[in-house]
Amino acid sequence: MSLQVQPHVSLKPYNSFGFAVRARAFAQAQDDGQVRAALAYAQAQQLPLMVIGGGSNLLLTRDVEALVLRMNSRGIRLLSDDGHQVVVEAEAGESWHPFVQWTLEQGLAGLENLSLIPGTVGAAPMQNIGAYGVEIKDVFAGLTALDRHSGELREFALEECAFAYRGSLFKQHPERWIILRVRFHLQRGAVLKLNYGPVQQRLQEQGISTPTALDVSRVICAIRQEKLPDPAVLGNAGSFFKNPVVSAELAGQIKQQHPDLVAYAQTDGQVKLAAGWLIERAGWKGFRDGDVGVHRLQALVLVNYANGTGQQLLALAQRIQNDIAARFAVHLEIEPNLY
Ligand code: FAD
Ligand code: NAP
Repeated sequence: MSLQVQPHVSLKPYNSFGFAVRARAFAQAQDDGQVRAALAYAQAQQLPLMVIGGGSNLLLTRDVEALVLRMNSRGIRLLSDDGHQVVVEAEAGESWHPFVQWTLEQGLAGLENLSLIPGTVGAAPMQNIGAYGVEIKDVFAGLTALDRHSGELREFALEECAFAYRGSLFKQHPERWIILRVRFHLQRGAVLKLNYGPVQQRLQEQGISTPTALDVSRVICAIRQEKLPDPAVLGNAGSFFKNPVVSAELAGQIKQQHPDLVAYAQTDGQVKLAAGWLIERAGWKGFRDGDVGVHRLQALVLVNYANGTGQQLLALAQRIQNDIAARFAVHLEIEPNLY
C-alpha cells in the first residue's frame, strides 16, 4: 500500500503528555517500503523527517515543521531456538509491553523487568530503556536500521550501539538512523533479577518462593500501577529527569546534610543519586502551576493536567533544575526528547 501523508495533523493523540501541537505533515509506516517512501516524500518537499513511536518520551514545545512518521510496522518472529537460548525479532512499530507479554507467554525470560514501559520496540534501543536493574543492552541481540544518509540497511551488533545509562548511538545521532526491527536474546528458565527495589519483598508477601518470569512481571506491573500515573488519564512522559551521577565527594557532602539521601555507588567510583529524592526533598512533589505540575506520588514525573503546553512544562522543569542546582550543586538532565 502507498504511504498516506496528511497535512497539518494534531499530535495530541500521538504524545503521552497530550500536548496539542500540530505536525506540518503526518504519516504512519507499516513496512520498510513506506519508511523509504516517507524519506523520499520529505526530501521532495524539503521537510525534515521526525520519526516517532508511541510518543511516550517526547516533550513537544511547538508545532513540528516536519513530516512526522509514526512507526506502525508489526511482526514478531522466533529466529532461533536451541531449547534454552532463543533469539526473537520484533518490528519497530510493535507496542513494547504487549511484546514483552508475548515473550512471557512463550515461556521466555529476559524482558520481565521491563514490563509496562510504554512505547514501541523501535524506540527501546534509543535510550537503552531500563527498569528494575535491567536495560535493553542486557538482552540485546542486534537491530536493523535504515541509514538516512545512504539509504542503505545496516545491521548493528551490541558493541556498535554505544549503549549507556538512558543513551545510545541512536540517541546521539537522531537524524541518522531509523530503527526498523530489533532482536533479543531470551532464555527458557533464566536466572531472574529480583534484587531491585521492592520486587523480592512483594514476591515473598505473595508466598512465591521460586518465582517465574511471569510472576516477576506481574509484581512489577502492580508496583508500577501504584506509583506511576497512566498517561491515558494524566499526561506524562515517565521520569522527566535522569538520575544524576556525581562524584563520591559531592555525594558525601550532600549525605552529611541529608543522611537519608538515596544514592547508589557505581562501579567507576561515582555515585548515582535518585533525582526523585532530590526533587521531593526540595519540596516540589505535588506542586502545581496552572495545568502543569509535579506528580503527587512520584516527584520525578512531571504532568500535564489537561490543557498545559510543552512551553509551560519546560519552564517548570527549568525552575526545578535551577532550584536543585542551588540547593545541592547537582545538574538535572532532562530525559525526554525535546522538540
Ligand atoms: P517516542 O517517544 O515516540 O520516541 C522517543 C525517541 O525515539 C524520539 O527521539 C524519536 O524520534 C525516536 N524514535 C522512536 N522510534 C524510532 C525508530 N523506530 N527509529 C529511530 N528513532 C526512533 N523509559 C525507561 O527507560 N524506563 C522506564 O521504566 C520507563 N517508564 C515509563 C513510564 C511511563 C508512564 C512513561 C510515560 C514513560 C516511561 N519511559 C520509560 C519512557 C518511554 O516509555 C521509553 O523511553 C520508550 O522507549 C519510548 O518509546 P516511544 O515509542 O514512545 O518513543
Ligand atoms: P525506585 O524503585 O523508587 O528507586 C529510586 C531510584 O533509585 C531509581 O531511580 C533507581 O535508579 C534507584 N535504585 C533503586 N534500587 C536500586 C538498586 N538496587 N541499585 C541501583 N539503583 C537503584 O524507582 P521508581 O521510580 O519506582 O522506578 C522503578 C524503576 O523503573 C527504576 O529502574 C526506574 O528507572 C524505572 N522507571 C523509569 C522511568 C523512565 O521514564 N525512565 C519511569 C518510571 C520508572 P534507576 O532509575 O537507575 O534504576
